[in-house]
Amino acid sequence: MHTNLGRAPLSTAARRAVDAAAGYCDLEYDLEAGRRGSRAARLDPLLAEAAGAEAGIAVNNAAAGLVLCLAALAAGRQVVVSRGELVEIGGSFRLPEIMAAAGARLVEVGTTNRTRAGDYRHGDDVALLLVVHPSNYRVVGFAQTPALAEVAAVARERGVPLVHDVGSGLLEDRPEAWAAGEPSVRGSLAQGADLVVCSGDKLLGGPQAGLVAGRRDLVAACDGHPLARALRLDKLRVAALVATLEAHLRGDLAELPVWAALHADPAVLAARSQALAVRVGGRVAEGASLVGGGAAPGREVPGPVVRVPCPAPADAARRLRAGDPPTIVRVAGDAVELDLRTVAPADDGSLAERVAGAVTGPG
Ligand SMILES: *Cc1c(COP(=O)(O)O)cnc(C)c1O
Repeated sequence: MHTNLGRAPLSTAARRAVDAAAGYCDLEYDLEAGRRGSRAARLDPLLAEAAGAEAGIAVNNAAAGLVLCLAALAAGRQVVVSRGELVEIGGSFRLPEIMAAAGARLVEVGTTNRTRAGDYRHGDDVALLLVVHPSNYRVVGFAQTPALAEVAAVARERGVPLVHDVGSGLLEDRPEAWAAGEPSVRGSLAQGADLVVCSGDKLLGGPQAGLVAGRRDLVAACDGHPLARALRLDKLRVAALVATLEAHLRGDLAELPVWAALHADPAVLAARSQALAVRVGGRVAEGASLVGGGAAPGREVPGPVVRVPCPAPADAARRLRAGDPPTIVRVAGDAVELDLRTVAPADDGSLAERVAGAVTGPG
């Protein structure tokens, strides 16, 4: 996934749902009763079910979800956060500034590299404890963070909710090597988080959206806040998100392009790479795909790449970017590199033509 390239591509079902919703739709209409219905009637229960939570709502993106939680649950009061998690997700999304914008007062605890559960006992007018997953960097070396369950125990002892921004929208803990240490929505709730916030377009594999799921009273407080209306989803994204969540609930992860890529059969990838290499005058080398997109920081999925040596790889890459549709390749030394994990198999043929033309084409 790449934040610069639109993050998660939508599934075929989600694209069809978007297309169907583009005209008139029953977004806020009760077809059976023949009158006004609730825009959340379908999505919210589905979201709660997928999250394994009492309740859930969806807003514009995870950043909006966090702003809404803070505004609804902590305006004018303190929010306790580890100094190791005062993150910048990108652009102007910096946690201390988001907190200020939402009207909450930040209480920093612990240090950049080490925070212990007991540190979360600081503050005297605390509304909630906040744990934020560092999703685009890792602290290595002399580093320590408490288990979420330990922070949850402090939250219970203090009688305040624990809000966990898990980031990627991974719904449940996964056994794959790249997912080691990546928190999931269900895992976080099981460890005692009261409310979980995540993105819809990272490992959830859907449209840009922010999911807020957890305790019914806390979700209701968020839903009832005036900002909820300003941050709500439009009909196209509701349609795409419903289709995406339905795929998760059916256990049909292969339907979601992000998961199809992460789980691509190594033998099939190797054969496709070999066929491409032959067509473009390259060779297959061992490589890896970064999960990326603000998920599983630094984690790679090993797999083949096709290296195509050429005299001026940066020029070839520029010609490929100028194509229609644009093709983005890696430039590595004296070659351009292609990773078919992120290419739909149906596009292999046209990709081969484009690459063959670009590596030999005029400067
Ligand atoms: C990606 C991410 C966000 C922001 O998500 P958007 O949906 O892009 O707003 C917030 N917090 C964490 C931990 C993230 O990984």
